Amino acid sequence: MRNDGGVASDETSMRAMLFEAPGAPLRAVELPRPTAGPGELLLRVSACGVCRTDLHLLDGEVEIATPPRVLGHQIVATSVADGRRVGVPWLGWTDGDCAQCRAGRENLCEHARFTGCDIDGGYAEYAVADARFCFEIPGDQPDAQVAPLLCAGLIGYRCLRLCGDAARIGFYGFGAAAHLLTQLAVWQGREVYAFTRGRDEAAQALARELGVTWAGSSDERPPVELDAAIIFAPVGALVPAALRAIRPAGSVVCGGIHMSEIPAFPYEILWGERVLRSVANLTRADGVEFLALAEKAGVRPQITTYALEDANTALSDLRAGAFTGAAVLVI
Ligand SMILES: [Zn+2]
Ligand SMILES: [Zn+2]
Repeated sequence: MRNDGGVASDETSMRAMLFEAPGAPLRAVELPRPTAGPGELLLRVSACGVCRTDLHLLDGEVEIATPPRVLGHQIVATSVADGRRVGVPWLGWTDGDCAQCRAGRENLCEHARFTGCDIDGGYAEYAVADARFCFEIPGDQPDAQVAPLLCAGLIGYRCLRLCGDAARIGFYGFGAAAHLLTQLAVWQGREVYAFTRGRDEAAQALARELGVTWAGSSDERPPVELDAAIIFAPVGALVPAALRAIRPAGSVVCGGIHMSEIPAFPYEILWGERVLRSVANLTRADGVEFLALAEKAGVRPQITTYALEDANTALSDLRAGAFTGAAVLVI
């Protein structure tokens, strides 16, 4: 077992970063190593992506019902029992039996449990996951490179899918999700228009490097009318901005789990059969489809890595926009 600094752990314990209450930093602790029940896998975590949802959990904008909790829902790990490499996403468990599940919308399951929110996640050396909700990871990309695909990539992909065959697509907020989805959308032959917070030169440079047609600030209008837009940033004011940028019958998809209040806007910018919708969570089918497609399209995350004990730094860097691409804890 690797043990890269921090508190030492023996055979029955593990290092973890623990959420205790909203507004408090995660605490480095030693916890009992979890054990797998029937149908579950005990996993040795090697990498875990850091997601904006983790900031919403930390801030109490999305509630953790039963703290304390180990956060982290983009887990790449090895199954202790058989050595298989698996990925664990946000959707950790569903009842399979509610009206939404029966209608094929397990992402909206009335009793869903989410990894790193209702179930302990991957900001730890070990985790336990329901085997039915773990993904096989195609290809041989390093674990840290795969981690951001499991939420940023996957939920971004669900947003992209709901944009249909949009040829000109805008991404508002050019962080972890947008930089992955740009690679896929460009590979699919779409034109991507990247909107960043203020004049974020680094994010705009990354966007251009990844082949976008245009990159600018989110208060600018794009040079052409868009067919669809995805809003990844948690900023409600971007909703009317995106509606103004799309053509009649185009879609604006909100990809985040939380957003600041949307300001009032005139009906005429929604008129013309424009569609405004959110995307919530993921289905397992989204995951299988996206991971295969990402491998085929050669989607490669740009990552900034942190040690497990530096999770609070990773989170504050994410909040500050201190890096481009995605942050990953290497454990
Ligand atoms: Zn996430
Ligand atoms: Zn259900």
